[in-house]
Amino acid sequence: TGISYFRPTQARIDLDAIRKNIAKLRQHLHTNVDIIAVVKANAYGHGDVEVSKAALQAGATTLAVATPEEALHIREAIQDVPILILGAVPVGFVPYAAKYHITLTVFSAEWIEEAQRSYEELTERVLVHLKVDSGMGRIGVRTELELQKLASIVEQSTLFDIDGIFTHFATADDEDTAYYIQQKEIFMQLVASLPTKPRIVHAANTAASLVKENVQFDAVRFGISMYGLAPSPYVEQHLPFALTPAMTLATQLVHVKRIKRGESVGYGAAYHAVEEEEWIGTLPIGYADGLRRALSGQDVLIGGQRVKIIGKVCMDQTMIKLPKKMTVGEEVILIGKQQNDEILMQEWADKLQTIVYEIPCMLTARIARVYR
Ligand code: PLP
Repeated sequence: TGISYFRPTQARIDLDAIRKNIAKLRQHLHTNVDIIAVVKANAYGHGDVEVSKAALQAGATTLAVATPEEALHIREAIQDVPILILGAVPVGFVPYAAKYHITLTVFSAEWIEEAQRSYEELTERVLVHLKVDSGMGRIGVRTELELQKLASIVEQSTLFDIDGIFTHFATADDEDTAYYIQQKEIFMQLVASLPTKPRIVHAANTAASLVKENVQFDAVRFGISMYGLAPSPYVEQHLPFALTPAMTLATQLVHVKRIKRGESVGYGAAYHAVEEEEWIGTLPIGYADGLRRALSGQDVLIGGQRVKIIGKVCMDQTMIKLPKKMTVGEEVILIGKQQNDEILMQEWADKLQTIVYEIPCMLTARIARVYR
């Protein structure tokens, strides 16, 4: 597009890492198992269209998102590939699903009946995947009876065709397998209760596809590890292949100054220089970019060395303590590799007492995504 970015704060996305992570998964799967690339939430903050294209190049055959808006955004750029919305959609979206060939997740007979009444005249049919709640307690039918009723109402409708059936595991990333096995059994029992098997049966997320046996069915839904991140420390220890993180969060020093002992930095004058003199660097990134205030004290990399964020993170700027006088324009890595060191998203997740999924998702749209 010829856009140049004035602000040096960037999330660099390595699409080749994404392709490699998918290619490794491909080798790990049985033949004939499809890969559904989970690109919801702007591809976990990595950029929906670019990641979708890379995933398709690497062998994924379907894209999955969470919302109607996400599906339409990708459809504008990518035609002829199935896009599945994993979440609930309002009945009012049905004509758009028909026009733009978006596959819907359904789990309520009443919803199907209402859509059928409202849009009887539509000529294009809409593909649906039936959702089974095998123990996640989120969306989906829970019993054979409910499933059979749903399937037969879909079959009687002139609007919808059954394309798939799926479920989602609550504990696939855990060491303990009892609950996971229970969910898998409930799902298999419900699928078997249908008069005809849908074209595509799928259950496994990243964790299940990488560390559990016999759960690949016709497709797996590959999300977090496509981006090079392990779903949990347990899965990380049992990965069948190494993952390559796709995102580097980088910026540059925009100001460097010397302060004397006792002088303060930032809001609330919370940081005071303790040494005779200290060198402080200012970074053009703040909590409005997703660098949460609770990340005060977190390390960043500069000149291949770890240094700390000091004082309170501001909305748009952040200060770090430099080991010596350094030059404006010097590169600073907040997430990713520099020389021999690397800051992993897991390090931020630990500091924020959350899971790694939340880290790329919380980086806001203000950070330019740059692809290579
Ligand atoms: N399937 C569903 C229904 C999901 O909600 C998600 C993400 O939360 C995924 C698959 C992808 O999971 P993961 O990123 O762990 O591979």
